[in-house]
Amino acid sequence: MKETLQFQTESKELLNLMINSIYSNKEIFLRELISNASDAIDKYKYLAFNSNGEIPVRDGVIWLHLDDKKNIIEIEDNGIGMTKEDLINNLGTIAKSGSKDFMKKFKEAKDKQDINIIGQFGVGFYSAFMVADKVEVLTKATNDKAYLFTSDGKDNFTIEEANKDEVGTTITLYLKKDKDEEDYSQFASTWTVERLVKKYSDYVRYPIKMMMETQKAKKDENGNDIEGKYDTVLEERTLNSMVPLWKKNKKEVTEDDLKTFYKSKFNDYEDPLFSMFVTVDGMVSYSSLLFIPSHAPFNLYSENYEKGLQLYAKNIFIKDKCPELIPDYLKFVRGLVDSDDFNLNVSREILQASPVLKKIANNVEKKIVDELKKTKESDFEKYCKFWDIYGEHIKFGIYSTYGEKKELLQDLLVFHSLNAEGNKYISLKEYVEKMSKEQKSIYYAAGETLDAIKMLPQLEKFKKNGYDVLLLDKRVDEFALMMLQEFDKKDFKSISDESINEELSTEEKDKIDSLNANHKRFLDNVKESLTDKVDDVVFSSKLVDSPVCISTKQGLSLNMEKTLDEQPGNENDGPKASKVLEINPEHELFKALATLEDNDEETKKYASLLYDEALLLEGFDIKDKQDFVKKLNEVMVKSLRK
Ligand code: ADP
Ligand code: MG
Repeated sequence: MKETLQFQTESKELLNLMINSIYSNKEIFLRELISNASDAIDKYKYLAFNSNGEIPVRDGVIWLHLDDKKNIIEIEDNGIGMTKEDLINNLGTIAKSGSKDFMKKFKEAKDKQDINIIGQFGVGFYSAFMVADKVEVLTKATNDKAYLFTSDGKDNFTIEEANKDEVGTTITLYLKKDKDEEDYSQFASTWTVERLVKKYSDYVRYPIKMMMETQKAKKDENGNDIEGKYDTVLEERTLNSMVPLWKKNKKEVTEDDLKTFYKSKFNDYEDPLFSMFVTVDGMVSYSSLLFIPSHAPFNLYSENYEKGLQLYAKNIFIKDKCPELIPDYLKFVRGLVDSDDFNLNVSREILQASPVLKKIANNVEKKIVDELKKTKESDFEKYCKFWDIYGEHIKFGIYSTYGEKKELLQDLLVFHSLNAEGNKYISLKEYVEKMSKEQKSIYYAAGETLDAIKMLPQLEKFKKNGYDVLLLDKRVDEFALMMLQEFDKKDFKSISDESINEELSTEEKDKIDSLNANHKRFLDNVKESLTDKVDDVVFSSKLVDSPVCISTKQGLSLNMEKTLDEQPGNENDGPKASKVLEINPEHELFKALATLEDNDEETKKYASLLYDEALLLEGFDIKDKQDFVKKLNEVMVKSLRK
């Protein structure tokens, strides 16, 4: 009986995209279908291996059958096959989160022709509809009947029972008619198909076979070749070289090989920023191919981003994304690990928790960090490119491990700085080397953007003194530095830290002590009216042109307070920074206010204006805007009426 079923809504949208094919690179359909066939063989092998002999182990093979008269291409595998439910779930819906994200991204994209978007996704089975107007899937799973799935990729598909003896799947594509520039019939020609397999699927670990015509010299009665006379015969050919790249001799593998492999294996249209071929023989033995994409995966920050490396054991595929192989802060790294040290007679779960895997993971992490360090020294420009895209993750690595990775990661850090020209990055080592003798700490300033930070009032003295200051414009920065605590025995100190006043110079300190004593009543009044806002009010030595600023005492900074308040669950109720209002004693505003010395009421009224002004200067919002405006108006009215 033939059943007609509807594609899920999202599938319809994706199919519609494929049919009206916005993607010029249609040939990738073959790569996708071969990759599915190879995956299916992997799955079959794994099943057979763990079935105690119930399911026969057999050699995996992928067959391509072409018919250039009828414009048909068939991809046949002896993989795991699909049950009826599998057909409905795997082909009738988009189960993969990746495809769902793709649809979302695609809908948001303004330029629908932007192939970069589509290139980032494994478009999968539906890519068949870029080149075919009808697709049949004949499939049989172990201990199940065979089924035929048929669809034109529009609204629905049909499933019916069918005949097939061997477990596996055959996918038949009825190619579209050639039209103008669009040449679909080429996909039924052996020449094109051979080229495509070489291009995209050479490393597939199972033979991809095809019957090909070749010329054989005609023989005479004695079995000798007749010169110039040929017969056309059909011959079975294996199109791919099959040796997995990571099993080859390292010396024979070029940078180009790695790039090509990366692009076809991980469906990227761009070369990776880093490619690494790692082979380790020692306490543990493994080979690994590791890549850092030259653009962050579009969903890197989304919750459903899955980190992990592909896992192979003794050349047998185990798992697509093994999260245990890569630390969170390197979750953007793609690649695979193959080791002979795994015991295959255990479940996937046990294998993933094995000490061998843990050792390999530690080793992989170290290899990646080492490579990054090397690049930082040898090709700083390339390193900066990496940092622009992934730097936050490294800093997150320091923060999220509570400083445990400090030794490993601190040399990877680079920052923008006040004195670095053209917003170039400098490393902590460079910073320390350039520090003047009297400078005790590594100074940093944090804020939303580089421009905003550079305008912070607290920087005024630093600029005047020529001290360099690290500029931290990412949320995670201050948290990471907090975990680092020091570098090369130098503390990190925020320019917004109150204690910096003393550090700037000792002369200033005496001056400030006497100011504090002389204007005690004024300070007390300001402090009293701001009790719920600040912990202290002091005279500042770090300001030049600005009248006020807010600093914080050791611990949380204003920016950190803001970040924590914004964390889900905190809703403005997170831990608070201990704030200090600093007043510039050289500023006209203070000099004028000082004349109010005895007028407690007036002083208190201006105090909250001072505080709000300081907040604004630091780039923060004023909480009680009504009150601010009211007080400002009073001042204006007063000065206008004079
Ligand atoms: P992906 O391969 O990324 O999962 P696809 O769209 O390529 O996405 O395939 C969807 C699913 O259909 C696969 O995950 C698999 O379960 C199933 N499938 C596709 N082709 C085959 C095949 N040749 N044999 C068995 N299952 C297949
Ligand atoms: Mg696929």
